[in-house]
Amino acid sequence: MSPARTRAAQLIRRILCLPSLEKWWRTPPRLSTHGALLHALTVEKTWEHSTGDMYSSLKRKICECLGAEVKHLSDADTLSTVATALCQIVLASPTEQLQLCFDAFCYRVVKPHQESWAPRLEDSALCARLDMFLHPNDLPRARISIWSLIWAGPGRHKLEFAIHVAVLIALHKRRGLPVSDTQEYIDEFFRLLEESIAEIPGVLCLGGLDIRIHFIRHCIELRSAWWNHFLAYAEGNADDRQKRWIEVLREEVERLGPCTKCYEEYPYTELTPSIA
Ligand SMILES: [Zn+2]
Repeated sequence: MSPARTRAAQLIRRILCLPSLEKWWRTPPRLSTHGALLHALTVEKTWEHSTGDMYSSLKRKICECLGAEVKHLSDADTLSTVATALCQIVLASPTEQLQLCFDAFCYRVVKPHQESWAPRLEDSALCARLDMFLHPNDLPRARISIWSLIWAGPGRHKLEFAIHVAVLIALHKRRGLPVSDTQEYIDEFFRLLEESIAEIPGVLCLGGLDIRIHFIRHCIELRSAWWNHFLAYAEGNADDRQKRWIEVLREEVERLGPCTKCYEEYPYTELTPSIA
């Protein structure tokens, strides 16, 4: 066993044996303040053979902690380590555990979104968070982004997570940060939506109506051409029930226009036409 893996195994055993485990369980610890533990979670093979119920609960809890970390962190290196740790846990989890992992992570990440947190982010933290979500992790054998994992995964909060990422990208654009970076983020965001276009009519029939409308309004803000392209696709490919939902959504987003609520604490000038 490699020294890194031995250390990781020891740290995980220590967590499981903590006398204060119950308290730890109720209060998400700051993993970033336990640097050794955070790095241990990124070690390949840390999670090998960890498929029992106890490990399932531990993974869910750690995914929740990783999500809670995101709102406190602005340091790009630590955020990147959090992303790698999440990918490592997800890649080592059987399919039936993935929804719990994604739901736990996304719930913690998007929760502050409901509290208008985004406008207060410093530019450096904003960029670091976008890189964390949209850039592939550092794992040599499975370079994949958190955005692609969550969008393709079975989690219940994927639309809320997509809104969160879209708001961050829109803030990046509104603050006049490098245009080429904004464009790269937009391209990566929509690349996945285009690749999974056949699934989107189904996605838009499920979950809360407000969330579906909110998702589309932010997508239109970033790239209105995507919505028009989707509508044309759905016209020829969606079933009758899906078409009825899409028509409801189309009427609502036309009536409401772009979302302003997510930016109301941030001073910005009127929206410029989509750069995409
Ligand atoms: Zn919004």
